[in-house]
Amino acid sequence: MTETFLDVPVDVITTEAALEAASAAISGGAPLLVVAVNPEKVIKAEHDPDLRSFIAQAGLRIPDGVGLIIASRLRGGRLRERVTGIDLFLALCERAAAHGWRIYLLGARREVVEDAAKELQHRFPRITIAGLRDGYFAPDEAQSVADEVAAARTDLLFVALGSPLQENFLRRSGERTGARVLMGVGGSFDVLAGRVPRAPQAMRSVGLEWLYRLYREPWRIRRMAALPVFLLRTVRHRS
Ligand code: UDP
Repeated sequence: MTETFLDVPVDVITTEAALEAASAAISGGAPLLVVAVNPEKVIKAEHDPDLRSFIAQAGLRIPDGVGLIIASRLRGGRLRERVTGIDLFLALCERAAAHGWRIYLLGARREVVEDAAKELQHRFPRITIAGLRDGYFAPDEAQSVADEVAAARTDLLFVALGSPLQENFLRRSGERTGARVLMGVGGSFDVLAGRVPRAPQAMRSVGLEWLYRLYREPWRIRRMAALPVFLLRTVRHRS
């Protein structure tokens, strides 16, 4: 089931259902492209046809952002549970460790992605990290980066280049990587590597992670200003 925000579809799902979809893709189903949708991306997609079609074609559009839940409640929609990109990323890693799926980490600065890999290895000792590489490469290197991912026999590829770089990489080179599950994870490697702390659990559980992020990274205010605009417009638009 999906709910549409300003013509951008978002799946009404739980983390468990997302994990099941990933399992199906790995055990022989079609490759699964996962995109985390938040209000900022919905607004961006309005003016970016590539991003819009990327989201529309993704196998799974997870509701990442409390703004989507608020908008849905205000207009009597069905979306009640947030599935954040980082939580799904970690849940997929946990499952990967349990099933022997091979993961590849692509993105962030070299020492950040290395520390993120160490942290994953620490949290999930049985995890197989098939490979990693930093996210600072020229656009014309994308094909060879995709070939490296393929050579590592990757099952799950996590791309942390930020938007819209990660979407562009996945759109143009995703298939070439041969990965079964492909997901853009934004700044998650920085969080995992301890470079950007996550909000305290108490704030997260009441949906105030954004407020903590704003306190840590005040320059995000311009990006976050999209939220009230998003709420007003989605409630008026009703789809
Ligand atoms: N990044 C990268 N290559 C680039 C630009 C950015 O690997 O050319 C990484 C950057 O180091 C950071 C992530 O992409 O780890 C962007 O995180 P951000 O929180 O800005 O992502 P967003 O909020 O767009 O999801």
